[in-house]
Amino acid sequence: MNDPTAETIFAPATAAGRAALAVLRISGPDAERALTQLAGALPPPRVAQRRRLVDPQGEEQLDDGIILWFPAPRSATGEDVAELHLHGSRAVLAAVMQVLARLGLRLAEPGEFTRRAFLNGKIDLLQAEAIADLAAAETDAQRRQALRQLRGGLGDIYRGWRDRLVRLLAHLEAAIDFPDEDLPPEIENRILGETEGLVAEIERHLADGRRGERLRDGIDVAIVGPPNAGKSSLLNRIARRDAAITSPVAGTTRDVIEVAIDLGGYPVVLADTAGLRDGGDAIEQEGRRRAVQRAEQAEIRLFVFDAANPADAAGASIWRGADTILVANKIDLAPWAGPDLASVVVPISALTGEGIDRLLTVLGERVAETYRIEAPVLTRARHRQALEEAAASLRRSFCAALPELRAEDFRLALRSLGRITGAVDVEDLLDVIFRDFCIGK
Ligand code: GDP
Repeated sequence: MNDPTAETIFAPATAAGRAALAVLRISGPDAERALTQLAGALPPPRVAQRRRLVDPQGEEQLDDGIILWFPAPRSATGEDVAELHLHGSRAVLAAVMQVLARLGLRLAEPGEFTRRAFLNGKIDLLQAEAIADLAAAETDAQRRQALRQLRGGLGDIYRGWRDRLVRLLAHLEAAIDFPDEDLPPEIENRILGETEGLVAEIERHLADGRRGERLRDGIDVAIVGPPNAGKSSLLNRIARRDAAITSPVAGTTRDVIEVAIDLGGYPVVLADTAGLRDGGDAIEQEGRRRAVQRAEQAEIRLFVFDAANPADAAGASIWRGADTILVANKIDLAPWAGPDLASVVVPISALTGEGIDRLLTVLGERVAETYRIEAPVLTRARHRQALEEAAASLRRSFCAALPELRAEDFRLALRSLGRITGAVDVEDLLDVIFRDFCIGK
C-alpha cells in the first residue's frame, strides 16, 4: 500500500468565496519544491516575506502575496509546510491550485492536515477531536470546552493513568518472569492498593453526570405538563419561531418536537412533548409514552400547567428532584395566586410573553450551575466506553487466580486507555521494567 504521507497535499485554509485574503497551505515532502518554483528562494523559517507568485511554466504572474515556510518538524503537521497568503479571490486561488496540481501535489482530503499532525505525534487523538469540536462549536461553553481539550488537559489525565498502569504491569511482569528474584514481599499488596486507587480515580471521572458530553451535544430540557397547558406555545415563544403547531384542541402535539437554543452560552435542546393525560387513542398513548420517556431522560424539565388550575402542579411530583421547574402559564387569563418564588413556581403567559425572560433566566442559571466545567471532562461516548472497559478490566484483575491472568487484565486496560489518546504500544513497558528493576544487571 502507498504511504499517503509520501504525497504532498494542499488546501485552502480559509473559507471559499470573496474575501480580503485566502490562505493556502501545503504540507509534505514536496512543499519546498512547490514553494521555490512558485515564489523563488526559500525564506528563513517562520518569517513572512512578500513575493510575486509566478507560474513556473510560462512565467505568468499569478498573484502578489505573503509566503511562510515551516520546515519539519516544527510545523502544524510535523511535515514541511508552506503557507501562501493570497488575495482572496476565487480566480487567484484557482490559478495557484492549478499550478500546484501540475507540480504533482494533490488537494487534501477532509481532515488530512490534522490526521498528519496526529500521525507525526504533534497532537493526540483527543486533540484531533478537539479541533473538530472547535470547528463545530456553536456556543461559548462548547468553544471553551473544545479549547480545554485542545490544550491537552484530558490527554494528560489519561496518559497519567496509563503510565501508572504501565508501571504496575512492569512490577507484576517482573514478579512473574523472575520468581526467584528477591522481590519485596509487600509487592502484592502494593500492586493491589495502587490498582484500587486507579480504579477509584477512573470511576470518579466517569461519574461526572456526562456533563462534557452533554455540553458537546446539547443539554436536554423537556417541556412537560397536562394537555392544553401551553407547552407548544411556550416552545414557540422561546424559539421565537413556529417550531411546533399550537392548537386549541387537546392532545394535538403527538410527537416530540425539538428546538436547539443558545442559553447564555450553553447549548440547550428544548423538547416539547405530548400532553400527559390518561385515555386517548393509540397514537395519543404512544405520544404520551414518548413524552414520559423523554422527560425522564432530560436533564431539566419545565413542568407547564394552567395557572387557573394550581392543583395540576401536583402532576410534576412524578419527577422528584431539583431539576424540574414549575411554570404557571396563562397568567393573562387568571393571575397566579400561589407563591411565585423562582425556586417554586415561575408564572408566565406564553401568549403575551410576560414572565418569559424570568423563566429563561431561571433556566439559564440552572443550566450554568450544572454545566459550569473547570476541569477537563469526558466529552465523547468513545472515551467513556474505553474508560469503562479499562475500569472493568482492572476490577476483574482483583479476582484473577494467577498473576499471569492479572497481567492480561492490566494489558487489556492499557489497551483501552491507549485507544483514547491513540497511543497503543507496549514498547514503553520494557523501558520501565529495566529502569525500575535493573534486572539485567
Ligand atoms: P399544549 O397542549 O400544552 O402544547 O398547549 P398549546 O400550546 O397547544 O396551547 C393550548 C391552548 O392554550 C392554545 O389555544 C393556546 O393558544 C392557548 N394558550 C397557550 N398559552 C397561553 C397563554 O399564556 N395565555 C392564553 N390566554 N392562552 C394560551
